[in-house]
Amino acid sequence: MTSDQHDPMDSPRYAEIATFMRAPLVRDVTGLDVAMVGVPFDGAVTNRPGARLGPREIRNQSSNLRKIHPVTRVNPFSAARVADVGDVRLPEIYDLPAVVRDIEAFFAKVCGAGAKPLTAGGDHSITHPILRAVGSERAVGLIQIDAHTDTWDEFLGSPLHHGAPFRRAVEAGVIDPKRTVQIGIRGPQNFTDGWDYSEDSGMTVVFMHEVDQHGLDGVIEIARTVVGDGPTYVSFDIDGIDPTFAPGTGTPEVGGFSSREALALVRGLRGLDVVGADVVEVAPPLDPSGNTALLGATIMYELLCLMVDSTIQGEP
Ligand code: MN
Ligand code: MN
Repeated sequence: MTSDQHDPMDSPRYAEIATFMRAPLVRDVTGLDVAMVGVPFDGAVTNRPGARLGPREIRNQSSNLRKIHPVTRVNPFSAARVADVGDVRLPEIYDLPAVVRDIEAFFAKVCGAGAKPLTAGGDHSITHPILRAVGSERAVGLIQIDAHTDTWDEFLGSPLHHGAPFRRAVEAGVIDPKRTVQIGIRGPQNFTDGWDYSEDSGMTVVFMHEVDQHGLDGVIEIARTVVGDGPTYVSFDIDGIDPTFAPGTGTPEVGGFSSREALALVRGLRGLDVVGADVVEVAPPLDPSGNTALLGATIMYELLCLMVDSTIQGEP
């Protein structure tokens, strides 16, 4: 980036090409603190597709956002070097192992350049290869907001579907299950082995009925205690939020967080060492109002602010 480059944030919000939060589009990740990435892939869903269109619509709705955080008053775009680095290219989209390999290779470049990745999905299967890159040198902690644990095993013969990324990440040694917390789990299942795997592997699982018992502040305290001060990834499945607020997703479950609770939950993670984050499962074809994508974009902004806070704190 050069200082004479046009800043799309200077234009009216309805103008210019839509990038994530109107950040500059930069293909070279060198020198960035946070790289915002799109992964337009939904070839691993077990139910309704559409999340492949998530990055494009989140970019569009993110044009509504502005710079300065209303609580912290931090402007993440001046406090850190932030850019939209485009989408991961997936030339072998019908080959799941090839998709995993290509996503991991892209994020290995981002991490290798010293940038923290902030991603818009895509279905939740994309988080497994992202974590393979983010956690390649040491297992990271994980805060997952989701209606589902996504720790099931094979579905229709495939281990790489969107209900399995965190089981695969534990097996790969790239997340530490003892530093993992899953928040907002709910809805009936046909089998309990995903729930069981999470608990048996040492993860902390906070079901939604337990959120009601602890209260939001109690849940934030649990999350902070579980991950501690080590490097932590935050994965936000939009179906963690109630379908009243976020109908545009493939596997909706009623009884979820409100959008206000979701913002408070993410803001409650301030000060943790957030080394990467994503928002996944926004499915624009199921989202006629655009509100789900707007909510996804807004959560992404909140995650950006967490990551920039970590970057500022990490500086000497
Ligand atoms: Mn989910
Ligand atoms: Mn999920």
